[in-house]
Amino acid sequence: MKQTQKNAILYLRVSTEEQVDNYSLGTQEEVCRREMDRLGYIVTQVFREEGKSAKTITGRVELIRLLEYCRRHSKDVQAVVFYKTDRLSRQMTDYLVIKEKLSLMGIKLISATEPFDDSPMGKFIGNFYAGIAQLDNEMKSERARNGMHARFQSGLVCSGRAQLGYVRHEGHVFKDTKTWDKVKKAWDLMATGTMSIREMMNIMNDWGLRVSINQQEYLLRKQTVHRIFRSKFYTGILVSKRYNEEVRGQHEAMISKELFEKVQVILDGRHNKSSLVIRNKPNGNFPFRRLVKCGKCGYGFTSGWCNGHAKKFAYYWCYKSQLCRSRYVQAKFLHFDLDIILKKTKLSTLGREIIQILLEEEYGKRYSKIRLQRAKREQLIGKLTAMRTNLVQKHLSGLYTDEIFSEQNTLLSANIDRLKISTNITALKEYTLSVCKEYVDSRLDNIFVTYTNLAVDNQKAILSTIFPLGFVWQYPGLTYPKINPLFEV
Ligand SMILES: [Zn+2]
Repeated sequence: MKQTQKNAILYLRVSTEEQVDNYSLGTQEEVCRREMDRLGYIVTQVFREEGKSAKTITGRVELIRLLEYCRRHSKDVQAVVFYKTDRLSRQMTDYLVIKEKLSLMGIKLISATEPFDDSPMGKFIGNFYAGIAQLDNEMKSERARNGMHARFQSGLVCSGRAQLGYVRHEGHVFKDTKTWDKVKKAWDLMATGTMSIREMMNIMNDWGLRVSINQQEYLLRKQTVHRIFRSKFYTGILVSKRYNEEVRGQHEAMISKELFEKVQVILDGRHNKSSLVIRNKPNGNFPFRRLVKCGKCGYGFTSGWCNGHAKKFAYYWCYKSQLCRSRYVQAKFLHFDLDIILKKTKLSTLGREIIQILLEEEYGKRYSKIRLQRAKREQLIGKLTAMRTNLVQKHLSGLYTDEIFSEQNTLLSANIDRLKISTNITALKEYTLSVCKEYVDSRLDNIFVTYTNLAVDNQKAILSTIFPLGFVWQYPGLTYPKINPLFEV
């Protein structure tokens, strides 16, 4: 039956400043579809916003198309779904405008990864998340102003070790005379298409090429070699994932763009893309994957199962554990420490203030809407009452017959009564501020409980919202380099 079918449309967006790979359009779509399945919706349309970073609505062609589609098909659309509030809009006002527009058409706005619903109080939470997204956006702009971006744009390397074949000195990158020719030779050899990455690794190690970390030298590993042959740096280009920009670097190019492209084609031809997708899939038992870094060398943790005496154990370990000689960590230790942190995590004073502002803002809007409706009704009641008075006068002066008078009078009176009743009903539907606050407190102040009850995708979303730089395992002990200013531990 048509009435029972709930249709949803998806809005997916990749913003250019994004560096986290679990935001890819494919992942967003998968998560959104799963959430819609769970809520019993059928996805009928998908709008994909790719390319340019548009901080405001006007630059978003697909979003505008979506709103237009909703306007035309409002009866066939019950919900608009997006991956995360910051996908929809980073501007608080834009978000509210979109929400308002859709709700006027009777369409729900659903975030697939954030725990808020479409109840009046769930809406407050939605606004809260939009507030976080906006703050995050503003902090990003601030960071850019701080000069990192300027440095990058001038073609200087911002951070990290120099690539193999180069050396870093006082913020500038130079040709490393000891390794330059060997790495260049390796590129040429790779471009012949006759060597596998493993063979290249062995050859390059035989030539004496090494990675040095903290003044210690290590043999090249397959991943390192692979990364070298994927790096545009060697063509003289600097690539920033953060700004999604490429600029001409100040360093000397080792190889030509043509040679680089040739190697990319060779690598692409061999690479099985599906294996990449699987690797990035969130794993049920490892919510931490990619969120924790090694305290010894700074590389990310990966995870898996290891055989114990009687049963399998879940472990995390540093991706470079062979180089930094760090031990494997049983997952339960990491999870235990995370639980302790989350149990202590609360809204900060700033977070509380923002919630307060949001609550009052929303409240003020609701009130003025109700007041406006009431004023309109009262105006109408006044008009109808005047008409009735007029009717009575005309009847008295003999202009209307008894029959017409009685008919019209009944009609007018019924209308007046109906208007008076609906005014009273509206008054009943108001929510008190304290009830709203209670709801916010229960969802946001008890982050541990909220977190525990969520699916892994949502858990990851919450963790990366509160702890934007993830965690560091200190062998033992879990630390976090940064916390979202709206929260505190
Ligand atoms: Zn490590």
